[in-house]
Amino acid sequence: MNRPAIFDALSEPVSRRITSGLSRIALVLRTQAWRGAEPEGVTPTQAQALTALREGGEGMRLAELAAQLGVSAPTMSVRVNALIAKGLVVREAGVDKRSIRLRLSPAGAELLERSARWPDFLARAVGVLDEREQEDLLRSLVKVIRTLQVEGDVAPQRMCVTCSHFRPFAHPDASLPHHCAYVDAPFGDRHLRLACPEHEDAPPPQQRAAWERFTEQAPGSAPGSAPA
Ligand code: SF4
Repeated sequence: MNRPAIFDALSEPVSRRITSGLSRIALVLRTQAWRGAEPEGVTPTQAQALTALREGGEGMRLAELAAQLGVSAPTMSVRVNALIAKGLVVREAGVDKRSIRLRLSPAGAELLERSARWPDFLARAVGVLDEREQEDLLRSLVKVIRTLQVEGDVAPQRMCVTCSHFRPFAHPDASLPHHCAYVDAPFGDRHLRLACPEHEDAPPPQQRAAWERFTEQAPGSAPGSAPA
């Protein structure tokens, strides 16, 4: 018996089930992430701040760090003061109070190396996907995160697709089609970065042009499927 449409009627929209799946993963992350840091006297939220500072490269202002992690500046100030007291973060004086930058201290970097076990359980789960599936998932995540950023739901991320050095589909090689002008080398979708220390924000017109080219030429992508 041919009843092709029955599950269309029985199912919630795919987007809602994907969102539900992402919520479950987020719950696991909240409960599991940074358990390795707790014996070191660092809370999961403090460990998130350490991670953001490591990805920040040149150091970050308190307001930037707060925006990155979606908390208020006073809340972040409490967390940062605790990390400074533990010797895990250092303050670097600027010309005025607003230009003070926060950096990971060598002890903070070492603690991250020792305690960052959280990617392990998630990496094992992601490892069941084959290379192609992982690449597709990474590309999909980039699209979702960039859309959240454009709509103001997450702070600007240091992703290739918003970087002034990103040249999408600059090469004919299907496995290495993009170009990073910072290192002057080709790269593929599997190399797309979500948090690159060398990232520099491209001006909005360059970001829009790069995004159009990236989405129009990406395999299986529908042009204009995400905000420009
Ligand atoms: S500098 Fe980093 S973020 Fe920018 S294109 Fe190169 S790898 Fe990507």
